Amino acid sequence: MKFARGFKSYCEQLVQQVRTELGLGELDPIDMDALACHLCIPVWSLSQMVLAAKESRCCLNVSEVYRKVSAFTFFEGSRRRVVYNEEHGLARHRSNLAHEFAHALLQHPPKDSGLSCEAEEANEAEAAWLGGAIMLPAHQARHIAAIGMRREDAATRFGISPEMLRYRLNVTGAAKMAA
Ligand SMILES: [Zn+2]
Repeated sequence: MKFARGFKSYCEQLVQQVRTELGLGELDPIDMDALACHLCIPVWSLSQMVLAAKESRCCLNVSEVYRKVSAFTFFEGSRRRVVYNEEHGLARHRSNLAHEFAHALLQHPPKDSGLSCEAEEANEAEAAWLGGAIMLPAHQARHIAAIGMRREDAATRFGISPEMLRYRLNVTGAAKMAA
């Protein structure tokens, strides 16, 4: 996926701005609850949705939703709400939320708002990129490489999966720096 010129550096700036607004230190992991609050996005677990719909977790269709859904955004007018699958592990859960918050930060419209498939795909790729930058900004990736932090320690320290860590170290060029 080729992004518009300047998109990646815009993402780093956006993340830095949000981190400053949240009062995070350079090496603090992102706090998803604080970010949700900052963006004024209510966050619900699937179990809350299931309860509100008076359904049961054991229902076949509910189980199917749990199998398929990581997190999604739904709109009430222009207001967003994020629903997440609480059965995912912590690192994946954080990453799922980061992806949805990335859509919000990039002001992407709802999925069914008539965009072309290409535009939808571009929005997904953008949210995936910004979601990664939210989880591990480039300066943190470079720090990990610069001090030769053990990968397991880095993943724990920043609340990300080993796969996300590897991906961010690669795409930020930090992995090359460490080599
Ligand atoms: Zn998405």
